[in-house]
Order: sequence, then structure tokens, then C-alpha cells
Amino acid sequence: MTARILVVDDIPANVKLLEARLLAEYFDVLTAGNGYDALAMCERTQVDLILLDIMMPGIDGFEVCERLKANPRTAHIPVVMVTALDQPSDRVRGLKAGADDFLTKPVNDLQLMSRVKSLVRLKTLTDELRMRAATARAISMEEGLDDSLGDEPGDVLLVDGRASSQERIARALKPIADVTSMSDPQAALFQAAESNFELVIVNANFDDYDPLRLCSQLRSLERTRFLPILLIAEQGDDDMVVRALDLGVTDYLMRPVDPNELIARSLTQIRRKRCNDRLRASVRQTIELAVTDGLTGLHNRRYLDNHMKLLIDRAAARGRPLSVCITDIDRFKLVNDTYGHDAGDAVLREFANRVRSAVRGADLACRYGGEEFVLVMPDTSAEMAAGVAERLRAIVEREPFRVPGTDVFLPVTASLGLASALPAGDSPDALLKRADAALYEAKRSGRNRVVAAAA
Ligand code: GH3
Ligand code: MG
Ligand code: MG
Repeated sequence: MTARILVVDDIPANVKLLEARLLAEYFDVLTAGNGYDALAMCERTQVDLILLDIMMPGIDGFEVCERLKANPRTAHIPVVMVTALDQPSDRVRGLKAGADDFLTKPVNDLQLMSRVKSLVRLKTLTDELRMRAATARAISMEEGLDDSLGDEPGDVLLVDGRASSQERIARALKPIADVTSMSDPQAALFQAAESNFELVIVNANFDDYDPLRLCSQLRSLERTRFLPILLIAEQGDDDMVVRALDLGVTDYLMRPVDPNELIARSLTQIRRKRCNDRLRASVRQTIELAVTDGLTGLHNRRYLDNHMKLLIDRAAARGRPLSVCITDIDRFKLVNDTYGHDAGDAVLREFANRVRSAVRGADLACRYGGEEFVLVMPDTSAEMAAGVAERLRAIVEREPFRVPGTDVFLPVTASLGLASALPAGDSPDALLKRADAALYEAKRSGRNRVVAAAA
């Protein structure tokens, strides 16, 4: 993991110490002796993580952090406050300034490394998502991600072995979250997988259960893989914290729990979860756009080209039939020429709707290009496919297509060509070519009809 880490401290000896430890782990290290230099460096170069001293002449660490988080170009860089002050009030102030984590001087080596590594990992993921989301915006011209992450209460699952602390924690979080409390870790795991929590808090206070087991199970389940986990550990149990962070636990608190710190850390996790969920959704949308035809909402040719081979191979492997149908609207150019391109588009959309209504869910319907559509029908013999194609032909012919915004109704017909995959396997190209030849025959012999390729 090569990441560039900026160490900011006004005392050169402190800088040297952290620099040496980070270099030993092969991180790329930059250093700054005051807040202004640090801000300038973050503007100028790509920085992946900042270790930031609090007490410095000029502007202090809190203010540096606030300024970084207020600047859209630097807001995503994780900040770890490094401070000699082990005061809960300072931690809360730091979290309010937007700090992602804390380390207390003298810095414990294991904690330094696990925190740095876990934050760098998270940053790598977030960067990737930001990049893809930017591409998605560029492609789809969608609204940008707006920055309001919602102030609705968070959905928090608290897993805690003791009724008294359950009550105390739920009360502390009341201003920012709806808390569901559970004391049985296995039941909690199920609950987490079934619901849409935004944060799980695991209080390590069970008599005969290792809470890290739950953390690791949460990390390995698909449904909870991205769910942030906040661990509450016994004061001084650094070993458990280090192991927890290695397992992918997102953050931790030491007992006794300071309510303000609990609120601040929970809020940070909930916001980050919302931000990442949104980025992920935008990535998913990009992928959907890439395989969807914008006019009709059907799959596009790129998707067909990728997916058809899979369907054919699967049919051959299982000894099941598969048929394809290519359909082409008759004399479509005339619609464009007579009523304009918009009317033509409307006919294509309505045609796609009728195609959708004629096929089963398992069938793959694509706009192949222009006014040509392809249906791939798994588990469908040549005879059954002929039935489907005839039904589609009739659905198109039966009712004329309305030109939107007018009282003009257009009679539309289509020609359809059918082919079925050879039992021994077939290539998408060969199969489509046979269906296309059948379509050509349907056109040649008068249009508005179904022709099947000879088996
Ligand atoms: P045939 O019965 O032989 O299929 O005749 P046709 O007029 O349907 O066939 P041809 O291939 O000559 O014309 C297809 C027309 O489809 C030409 C093209 O302008 C039009 N077309 C292709 N894509 C679109 C589109 O997205 N929107 C609109 N409105 N028209 C399109
Ligand atoms: Mg046509
Ligand atoms: Mg055509």
C-alpha cells in the first residue's frame, strides 16, 4: 500500500519520529512545520492522509482541519489529530472540526499503523468511487452529488451485553439516531443482514462471547460488508482494538464512554456511510446506463453481445433449447419522413413497450439498433418461439400507434426472423446471422410476417 502521508508538527523531533516510522512501512512521507505550509501542500499535491499536531503557533490543528474540510478540493483527505492532550473535550472539538481520528502522544506504534492503514484503505475506496461518480456525471449529465447528507436521524444497531449500558448509550444517541438495542450477537447479525442500519455499535462487554467474532462476521456477509462498525472497548485493551481495526472495524471508543465523543464519532460514520452509499448508487447507475438503450429503456446491443454468449453456453451445457428472434419495423423510414423524427421516436418507444408485454421475464429483449429489436429466449424451442413471434407480430398490428400530441394513428407492422441454437452449441454471431437471413426472407416475401430459419 503506497500512500502519501503528510506529517504536520511544529517540533522537528516529533516530525522526524513519525516520518521514520512511516518510511519504515514504505509510505511516501511529506512534512510541514506549521499549518499554513500544510494547507498549501494539500492544495498543491495529492495527499492521502494527514497526521496533524493540534498545538502549533500561527493556526492550530483545529483550524487547519476546519479549513481542509471546508475546501472541496481537500475535504476528502482523512485527518488524524496527533495530540499530547488526552482530553475528551479536545477529541470532541477535533471531531467537530472534521477530524477522522486521534492519536495520543507518545504515539503507540501498533495503533499508528493500524489507524493509518485502515484510513488509507478507506481513502482508496472513496477515491475510486469519486472518480467513477465523476465519470458517471460526465456521461449522463446527471445532477452532481449534492453535499447535504441529510439530517434525518441515523439508524443504529447497538449490540451490548448489558441492559444498563444499552440504556445509557441509547439515551446519549437519542438526539441523532434511532437505536435498536440487542444483547444476543447472533440475533443481531441476522437483524443487521435483514435491515438497513447505517451503523453498528458493538460494546465489548460480553461475559462469554468474543465481540470480534461478530465484527468479522459482519465484514464477511455481503449485506453488511459496507456497514460501519464502532467498537467500544475496555480502557487499555489496545490489543483488542488493534485486532479489531485489522478485521475492518471502522472506529472505536474507550470506556468510560464520553457521550459527546460517542455522538461525534457516530455522526461521522453515519455521514460517511451515506456518502459512500450515494457514490455506489451512482456507479451502479453508470453501469446501467452503459447497457441500456436511452430511448426505449431496453438493453442495448453492447449488453446483448456480452450476455448472449453466456445464455447460449448455459443452454448447451444443460441440454436446453434457446431461440432468438430479430424483428424489424416495416417501412419505418416512411414514419420519419412523413411525421418527423420525434414521431418516429415515439413509435420506437411504443414498439418497445409492446415487445416487453409480449415476452416473459426470463427473455432478454434488446434494441439492436435503429428499428431492429432482438429477443433471446432461453428454454424456448423453435415451435414455442414461433408462437411468441406470432403473438408479438399480432400485438403490433392489432392497434395503430398514436403520434403523441396529435390525433394521428399510424398502422405499424413488423417482420420477424427466428432461429434456434444448435443443441451442440452455437456462436451468437452464427445464430443471429441465421435469424437475420430469416428476417430478410420475411421482408422479401411481403413483410408483416414471421419466418423461421430452417433447422
Ligand atoms: P423495411 O421495411 O425494409 O425495414 O424499411 P424501413 O424503412 O423500416 O428500413 P430502413 O432500414 O430503410 O430505414 C430505417 C429507418 O429507421 C431509417 C432511420 O432514419 C430510422 N431510424 C433509425 N434509428 C432511429 C431512431 O432512433 N429514431 C428515429 N426516429 N428513427 C430512426
Ligand atoms: Mg425497417
Ligand atoms: Mg432496418
